[in-house]
Amino acid sequence: MKLGNDKMKAKKEEINHEKRKHALLSASGSSRWINCPGSVEAEKNYPRTETEFSKEGTLAHELADNCFKKGKDADSFIGKRITGEIISKDMARYVQEYIDYVRSHETKDSIFFGEAEVDFSHVVPEGFGTLDNAVLIPSQRICHIFDLKYGAGVLVSAFENTQGQLYALGILNDLGWLGDIDKFRIHIFQPRKENISYWDITVEELNQFGKYVEERAALALSKNAPRIPGEKQCEWCMDKANCKALSKFTENIIMAAFDEVDEEQEEIFKPVEKISDKEKKLILDNKDLIISFFNSIEKDVYDRLITGGEFKGMKLVYGKSYRVFKPNAEAFLKKELGSEAYEKKLIGITEAEKRIGKKKMAKITNKPLGKLTMVKSTDPRKAVVVEDVADNFEDLDDEL
Ligand code: SF4
Repeated sequence: MKLGNDKMKAKKEEINHEKRKHALLSASGSSRWINCPGSVEAEKNYPRTETEFSKEGTLAHELADNCFKKGKDADSFIGKRITGEIISKDMARYVQEYIDYVRSHETKDSIFFGEAEVDFSHVVPEGFGTLDNAVLIPSQRICHIFDLKYGAGVLVSAFENTQGQLYALGILNDLGWLGDIDKFRIHIFQPRKENISYWDITVEELNQFGKYVEERAALALSKNAPRIPGEKQCEWCMDKANCKALSKFTENIIMAAFDEVDEEQEEIFKPVEKISDKEKKLILDNKDLIISFFNSIEKDVYDRLITGGEFKGMKLVYGKSYRVFKPNAEAFLKKELGSEAYEKKLIGITEAEKRIGKKKMAKITNKPLGKLTMVKSTDPRKAVVVEDVADNFEDLDDEL
């Protein structure tokens, strides 16, 4: 495995690191500021805080990086501390899936990059980012860019992924010395959502994106940049609970579901059959955004209460809780019940595969069809033909 990071670093000595730390237009936030240029100004006064989830994500990345650097597998870190945090079995398993995926793309002549800083300041002022991994294969004129998403919440797609495209622009900028690359393949690996997606972009298309992003960056840094609400951009925007543009946008959509004002001057929801297909589409297209807007309002009020403030009409209470064993419980139960204090359980699929291997596992496992779910027509998955559903389930019953 050839390492490319050193060559990348050499070019980067020129970049001002202090500036980078405060860069407004980051790669990770690009989906937001590209789609809503006004969000840069809107987020200006919010402090950057770490959440439990972002800390967990950082730890998973640290673990992957340690594995690549030391040529080890993730399970060799179970129970050990990385940056003060203990690596759990679950995290090691998910991260190992990512490591295997990245390693499976390496070839004899590939060049590997790990946690590499890339500079795309030629299109975005002070633009930089740290990509998780990249594997460049000169003989195939392709560069794979890998992004580990450890979150289990929102599904991330590689399709037209702006973060990946900015990394690709950075690589192209940094690695001009490597000669020709025809295309980049952007991979999103989200193990806790069982989501692996990839998307190809040619160098020509990437340069077009570079021009577009240059314009959006200039707009985002200009005075009175427009606020443009939308699912992608508002999802992680820190101003969500206070943004007038989003609140107006939400109001317009919700109004589609309201009926005429009745005699008592009370607004009521229309019966569903009275909502037109056009209105239904508008509501469904923006359902997640509306819910997320309401959630951000809820969080705003919760934050006020949890920090000792007041809010008329709302209070904090203890939620439902369950009994837990005290530390002396095991010894006590052993004394009382002997071996009956324990129950035998079948080992899990991952553990079984580790012990008996994939081949034998194929004899005893099956992957049933998932529950039918309605998604937007832009979703990359193939649409299910309803007539086929019954046949598919019959086939599966036969196999079982
Ligand atoms: S909440 Fe949405 S519309 Fe408002 S500034 Fe943020 S991204 Fe833009």
